[in-house]
Amino acid sequence: LKPAAFDYFAPDTIEHALQILAEHGDDTKLLAGGQSLVPLMNLRLARPRALIDLNRVKGLTFIVREGDWIRIGAMTRHQQVATSSVVREGCPLLARAAGNIGYTAIRNRGTIGGSLAHADPVSEHPCVALAFDAQLVLRGLRGDRVVTASDFFRGYLTTALAADEILTEIRYPVLSPQTRWSFQEFAKKTGDFAVVAVACLIEIGGSDIQVARIALAGVADRPVRATGAEQRLRGRQPSAELFSQVGDTAASEVHPTSDIHAGENYRRHLVRTLVRRALSDSMSDRDGADV
Ligand SMILES: Cc1cc2nc3c(=O)[nH]c(=O)nc-3n(C[C@H](O)[C@H](O)[C@H](O)COP(=O)(O)OP(=O)(O)OC[C@H]3O[C@@H](n4cnc5c(N)ncnc54)[C@H](O)[C@@H]3O)c2cc1C
Repeated sequence: LKPAAFDYFAPDTIEHALQILAEHGDDTKLLAGGQSLVPLMNLRLARPRALIDLNRVKGLTFIVREGDWIRIGAMTRHQQVATSSVVREGCPLLARAAGNIGYTAIRNRGTIGGSLAHADPVSEHPCVALAFDAQLVLRGLRGDRVVTASDFFRGYLTTALAADEILTEIRYPVLSPQTRWSFQEFAKKTGDFAVVAVACLIEIGGSDIQVARIALAGVADRPVRATGAEQRLRGRQPSAELFSQVGDTAASEVHPTSDIHAGENYRRHLVRTLVRRALSDSMSDRDGADV
């Protein structure tokens, strides 16, 4: 399979990339790792008239910690995110989830920015970004704007990115040492896209749960928070019984649709099981190496 003909640009600055984007309009696509876009082009499900390759653009690949935030450049590869000591120490949930994406070859090419911009509702990065309510920096010719993950995902493969903007950076809050976390997913085999995935963050003050954030992938046209389940956790002491009840709550508050990968009821069953499992796992003792 071969894509339809297209013009190809390989700028080396973000400003030049933005200029080309402005000149060529809606029929232009940005090329990052190509792991989603190129298959779509080969199947002719996407037929951009021009491609702007971001791979030579300087300043889009980095992972830095600044105070209570970890900043990650949009062109940083999944494998770099999964193996970075900065991410593993400050944001281990993100490292764990990035390591679950596809296979080594996919992780070596695919980028965090490409995954977020593509906004596949079963992908790991959008789910984790929502759990953290990460900040996404969108750059246009008029400057930067910062959008939170809860405002970024608008629907199936649809985001708040305007046609003339480029996602340049994603910012994640550093987890406090007290924050417990887990990432769970069910895929038909290792390396496949998840059918359902769960990212959770729990903070306990005294003996009660103070903060609970649960994000789900694979149950809607975008990643969603299980707000009813979160509510049910707050102010309660962690226990196996509570986690089982909260799994039921999460399963009852989602409205998945059936597709060739799984039926609605099976997805609900996965939500129930994976939420319970994520909550139990978040309580287990981990040493720093367990990412
Ligand atoms: C066999 C296989 C298995 C896979 N398994 C998984 C999996 O288990 N989990 C998973 O999450 N993904 C999986 N993927 C997809 C992979 O993670 C992709 O890397 C990711 O979805 C897209 O990132 P990319 O860098 O390849 O983006 P590209 O494919 O280059 O681009 C994707 C889209 O994002 C836009 N875009 C890219 N970068 C930017 C930017 N900086 N600003 C604005 N728009 C931008 C592009 O224009 C395009 O529309 C798999 C892919 C394959 C081929």
